[in-house]
Amino acid sequence: MVLKRLTHFHVLLILIAASFSSFTYGKTIVKSGSYGRSYEDRVLTSYKIVDDSYAQNELTKVLLITEGVHGNEYMGITNKLTQVNYWHQLPVTHPLKAFLKQAGVIYILPKVNPDGIERKSRFTYNGHDLNRDFLERKLNQQESYYLSEFVKEEIAPLSIKTKISVDLHCCGGKLLQAKDMNVSDNYPFITVLRGPEAMKVPVQHTRDHFKTFFPGTLKDYLHENFGFKAFTFENFEIDHPLRELEVLLEKILEFKSH
Ligand SMILES: [Zn+2]
Repeated sequence: MVLKRLTHFHVLLILIAASFSSFTYGKTIVKSGSYGRSYEDRVLTSYKIVDDSYAQNELTKVLLITEGVHGNEYMGITNKLTQVNYWHQLPVTHPLKAFLKQAGVIYILPKVNPDGIERKSRFTYNGHDLNRDFLERKLNQQESYYLSEFVKEEIAPLSIKTKISVDLHCCGGKLLQAKDMNVSDNYPFITVLRGPEAMKVPVQHTRDHFKTFFPGTLKDYLHENFGFKAFTFENFEIDHPLRELEVLLEKILEFKSH
């Protein structure tokens, strides 16, 4: 009976809707994997988020989000981003969803230093600061070594030109660019919401923020060796860190190429 009520017009509408949705929006897929183990044998987990409309060789841009390099600054902001339900409820107009729809791929490494996170410590189990170990000649800690292998094996072969990375730290309220980048020339600050207030987040170099240069940061490593437009985001201590991150990523994705 139901079928009989369907006119040609209805069928046509259904067909148009079906072809439109399959053409415009594929399904967002979240794949998890392991890229190694920490010194204390904790799994180093990776997530790949992609729109299933695109084959691997059709991807045109990559966003890499890392969290927990310093265990004492870990906020769990990326937890929600690794849930498939988060992506399914996200409107297609949202910049992160739009990024996937435009053949982007997002990788998330939610706990770069799981032993440090467990102890709420800045350092690895061995007492090393991972954010000083990311030099090609160094990579002494297995957490940094496995991360570099992950990028070499998973991201570098994609031959994608547009690569953006954001390494999440806390809580200086700054966006730090890799040492050879000059995004701050055009964007001296970005505006994000903190509660009801608009906050200006300065875009700086590490040397502006700390008055010295630290070799071996993850952002410099990704910029120099793999051509990432690479940032450290010193988040705020805030109620809704995920929203801050979403706004931040929206702004970063708008940055003109440098
Ligand atoms: Zn830090």
